[in-house]
Amino acid sequence: MASEFRRTVRGMRDLVDGEAENLRFIEQRARKISKLYGYNEVITPLIEHYELLAAKLGEENRKRMFVFKDLGGRKVALRPEFTASVARLVATKMQSAPRPLRLFSVGSLYRYDEPQFGRYREFWQANYELFGSNRPEADVEILALTNSLLKEVGLKNYFFKIGHVGILRSVLSYNGIAEEQQNSIMQLLDKKQFDVALETAKNAGSSKSSLNTLETLLNIKGRQPDIVISEIYEAVKSYSKALDAAENLGEIISMLKAGCVDVDLSVEAGFARGLEYYTGMVFEVFVVDMDIAVGGGGRYDKLIGLFGGGQVPAVGVALGVDRLSLALQKQGQKSQRSEENRVLIIAIENSLLGQALKISNMLRERGVVVELETMGRSVSKALSDADRRGITHAVMIGSKEIKDNMVALRFMKERTQEIVPIERLFEKIGQ
Ligand code: AMP
Repeated sequence: MASEFRRTVRGMRDLVDGEAENLRFIEQRARKISKLYGYNEVITPLIEHYELLAAKLGEENRKRMFVFKDLGGRKVALRPEFTASVARLVATKMQSAPRPLRLFSVGSLYRYDEPQFGRYREFWQANYELFGSNRPEADVEILALTNSLLKEVGLKNYFFKIGHVGILRSVLSYNGIAEEQQNSIMQLLDKKQFDVALETAKNAGSSKSSLNTLETLLNIKGRQPDIVISEIYEAVKSYSKALDAAENLGEIISMLKAGCVDVDLSVEAGFARGLEYYTGMVFEVFVVDMDIAVGGGGRYDKLIGLFGGGQVPAVGVALGVDRLSLALQKQGQKSQRSEENRVLIIAIENSLLGQALKISNMLRERGVVVELETMGRSVSKALSDADRRGITHAVMIGSKEIKDNMVALRFMKERTQEIVPIERLFEKIGQ
């Protein structure tokens, strides 16, 4: 086979040396949080109709889908996000489900992004969506849930960048700028191409005063929410819809504070997200010293309608599991593996392998992680390998001791050893 085929496809990764475990740890905590907040897990297909996924994704992301024809000639794609699939569910099978509807999904997604630090073509997300409420408490729940998950996995030094696309869109709509043009402008803002965004708004028909307002908004940001919100009110006071949007953002932020949800907020009036479906509050979570977002979300009240499911307001968040894992590693959090006891069982003679198997299973039944020496190595070789691999205890089964139902238990870190009765092994290992 040609050597290039022995490598993973560009942008795809093998997760080894604890990476898979770290990823599953985050996934497990994400599931725990979904239960604590009453979100039911749904599993949707990895492959969907191209048209469904493309509907409201935004031009940039649309171009980055893995698209192909299946053998039946259907134009399909690998999912680049969960929201479209979950929205499809809500517009079809779950159309008559009682509201609010809280749904959780976790799994792999595919985007033909340019591979770089924290950016892969296959990555994992934990995704939470709340359908049926347009009230600020629903937005607050998504923000609080995100914060709970970040705390649960042990992330430190993070902050939420928060804004409201309604503020910018209302100013653009004021001069009759069509939604499609607004989408292009929002994407430019998302890429921080502020000058090009203003130029595009100008060419699309934005008046001088609207352009001034937009420019003012792009400069309003800060870590003191109350001050930033009042600056936004002042900037948009003559645009009633933008003022409504700013009030909505202000209400969400004060409710967070009233609920003692302890998050660092950076409020940015010019913050937009690339996906076209957002209609209200939008946010992203950043870790200090890491220039990439570990999660993001917002309100999208029109997507379900677009899929024929009627007017169903929605708000949600997607957390990047791989990026969370990277951030935790960067912050020096130990891998999950190193925390638990791991036992190696060595039969000193071949005739004792049956005993070794029996003791292994006895411990496993009580929840202890046990490996059996299966390489037929000498005790000293097996022990030095165990040391290298972080085994915490070795149990050596010898013919002399086993006659009295005893085994040798070695504490790897302390480098001590004692002879213990088999029935006391579990207690001695201290699981
Ligand atoms: P989005 O679906 O674009 O809102 O992204 C939500 C989160 O998914 C981001 O904040 C990232 O943490 C993660 N994410 C998005 N794209 C990638 C990628 N190409 N590789 C790894 N993580 C990603």
